[in-house]
Amino acid sequence: MLSFIDGEIEEFRKDIRKFCERDLRDFSSFYDLWEKFPEESYKKIAEKGILSLGIPDAFGGSGDFIRELVATEEIARVDQNLSIQMEIKSLFENTLLLHGNDKHKALLADLAKGKIIPAFAFTEPSGGTDVLGIRTEAKRENGRYILNGTKMFITNAPIATHLIIFARTGERISAFISERNENIRPGPRIRTTGTRGALISSIRIENLELDDGSLIGKEGNGLKVFFDVMDRSRLVLSAGALGMMRRLYEESIKFSMERKSGNRPISEYQYIQDYIVSMAMDIEISSLLIYNAAFLAKNNRQFSMESAMAKLYTTESLKKNAMHAAEIMGGYGYIFGTAVDRIYRDSHASTLGLGSSEAMKITIFNYIKKISGRGLA
Ligand SMILES: Cc1cc2nc3c(=O)[nH]c(=O)nc-3n(C[C@H](O)[C@H](O)[C@H](O)COP(=O)(O)OP(=O)(O)OC[C@H]3O[C@@H](n4cnc5c(N)ncnc54)[C@H](O)[C@@H]3O)c2cc1C
Repeated sequence: MLSFIDGEIEEFRKDIRKFCERDLRDFSSFYDLWEKFPEESYKKIAEKGILSLGIPDAFGGSGDFIRELVATEEIARVDQNLSIQMEIKSLFENTLLLHGNDKHKALLADLAKGKIIPAFAFTEPSGGTDVLGIRTEAKRENGRYILNGTKMFITNAPIATHLIIFARTGERISAFISERNENIRPGPRIRTTGTRGALISSIRIENLELDDGSLIGKEGNGLKVFFDVMDRSRLVLSAGALGMMRRLYEESIKFSMERKSGNRPISEYQYIQDYIVSMAMDIEISSLLIYNAAFLAKNNRQFSMESAMAKLYTTESLKKNAMHAAEIMGGYGYIFGTAVDRIYRDSHASTLGLGSSEAMKITIFNYIKKISGRGLA
């Protein structure tokens, strides 16, 4: 338990956990096995009010950022495919909240009700790390923007009702919002190793005509929009990774206490204890990193470096601990579709999404340089 999280938030966590156990847990393996968007579970989290967390009351929401993170943790503990939806929702909601105008923000009420399926498109076939290298173009013609280009690995592309699209306007990058229409065409589904309930594909954008009202923030300000949104949404992704780590820990303890070798539970062997202690430590450290950054954000303080640190540490720990949990289970850790197997496959997406681990290190080092006031190299 964290000293700076109050009892009300802990009560909130208990309520969400009960809901996740009762209404979501049993369906997660189905979405993974059949590679389906978790439609029924998405409706349930909308009805429970979880999609409205993170959206202020004034825009049809019901909760703050800390609750959004706690709920994402609890959802990821039972269904990673659903927690990815919390990430995409967070990207969409923060784009509108931080840089949108009143008309854009009016969409948040429908997002909170689950009526909008969002997508956030920056990665291109030529790369996702180099955001400056975006090639999709938005040309100005007759007082409108005409967008052309291709995006890659876009979660929800086949089903999204609304998309945030990053495109080049001259030398600079701008952010746009568009409803889905025939000028935005998803490519064939990309079948990924994990997160199999997320519908991911490329999108071809052809002569997409947008008016000035579709621009998010000012023209040429897209990188600012992008990085402001990343700071917050990386914490939502990290909360998802933390939730998965909690599940690995629970599964590892249960299995190691029941499984015997040489007439003793394997939990009595120090090699196994080492794995479990390491998981407990990583859960504690990740919680501290995530919620410290979240409180900095809540109090309008600078938290970009802390957010990147939280993402780097939590997602790399998740990958390591997923492997250790599978080792603890011996052959049973290698059976397709178990909770540990799913998390093992899903964990890799967490280090890629919203910036790779290498990109996090670049961000952190840039802040180290800034803080030190001189180049360290
Ligand atoms: C499951 C899943 C869902 C996704 N959903 C979305 C989505 O909804 N929207 C979206 O826009 N994108 C999405 N992505 C794409 C994701 O953001 C990118 O995969 C990620 O940003 C990396 O980009 P890339 O794959 O093109 O790799 P690249 O950018 O080509 O990088 C390849 C490797 O080189 C490293 N590298 C690149 N540049 C540097 C550098 N300067 N210094 C050091 N190392 C470097 C990278 O870290 C990586 O290891 C998704 C990806 C996955 C796997």
